[in-house]
Amino acid sequence: MSDVVLSIQNLEKTYPGGVHAVRGVSFDVHEGESVAIIGSSGSGKSTVLRCINRLIEPTEGIIELRGEQINTPSADVNLVRSRIGMVFQSFELFAHLRVLDNVTLGLRHVRGMSKDEAEKVALEVLDRVDMLERVNAYPGNLSGGQKQRVAIARALAMKPEVILFDEPTSALDPELIGSVLQTIRGLAEEGMTMVIVTHEINFARDVADRIVYLDHGQVAEEGPSSIINTPKTERLQKFLSSMHEDNINEEIEEGHVKEGAEYGYVPDGTGDRPRP
Ligand code: ADP
Ligand code: MG
Repeated sequence: MSDVVLSIQNLEKTYPGGVHAVRGVSFDVHEGESVAIIGSSGSGKSTVLRCINRLIEPTEGIIELRGEQINTPSADVNLVRSRIGMVFQSFELFAHLRVLDNVTLGLRHVRGMSKDEAEKVALEVLDRVDMLERVNAYPGNLSGGQKQRVAIARALAMKPEVILFDEPTSALDPELIGSVLQTIRGLAEEGMTMVIVTHEINFARDVADRIVYLDHGQVAEEGPSSIINTPKTERLQKFLSSMHEDNINEEIEEGHVKEGAEYGYVPDGTGDRPRP
């Protein structure tokens, strides 16, 4: 189809140590589409994104950006990375550069813009992620949520054709997750083409047009976001119910038990306070 932005075909990755992390993964991402990749830790999600952005070379397979193969020695890596934005779990900002300079860096060095041109673009994108007030701050003085919004602005500044997000909220305190998800949701609504690896299942269901479920390096199920509510495969059913259990366990740990523990009281299940 003509509106395919990114096409992944029979991707294979075996790491030098011998781990066969990705086993024949194929999927397309269409113009304006948000695709969420979900799956257990170790299922190969990050490996797929790293191959797309050429941070690592796949063992086999073809990756095309608008019909043009990008995983060949002749494709310019810097050009590929300027066309495919990437947002990491750990932000990857330069600590010694102000917010503004973190965003202008790629514009000046990869796009060859003048300082003034680059700053104009940077201010526009920082405004979009609601970080205009902190342009002179250093990353060390920002919250995790703010850092991630700067990282998103840095990706947007390059006007990429697609942005890859690798668990963008996993390193954040719970109260900071919302602002980052809201920013990503805004991009989806504006029609940005995106691939989002996330553990936020509700977010994936609400924002993604399509879900790709990876299990042991393979696409075990793929479909519209409704597959979150009505999974077809047993594997996806199991994964979703394990995520649900995780959430419940976290609620118990964070709310109930910890609250009691602060007062030196750990519930023993009987409802009685243990005797000293
Ligand atoms: P996910 O992002 O879904 O948690 P990854 O793509 O990070 O999964 O990892 C998939 C598998 O590849 C795991 O078994 C992991 O241990 C292994 N792996 C990841 N990175 C490397 C590496 N640089 N060298 C060797 N093995 C790796
Ligand atoms: Mg990962």
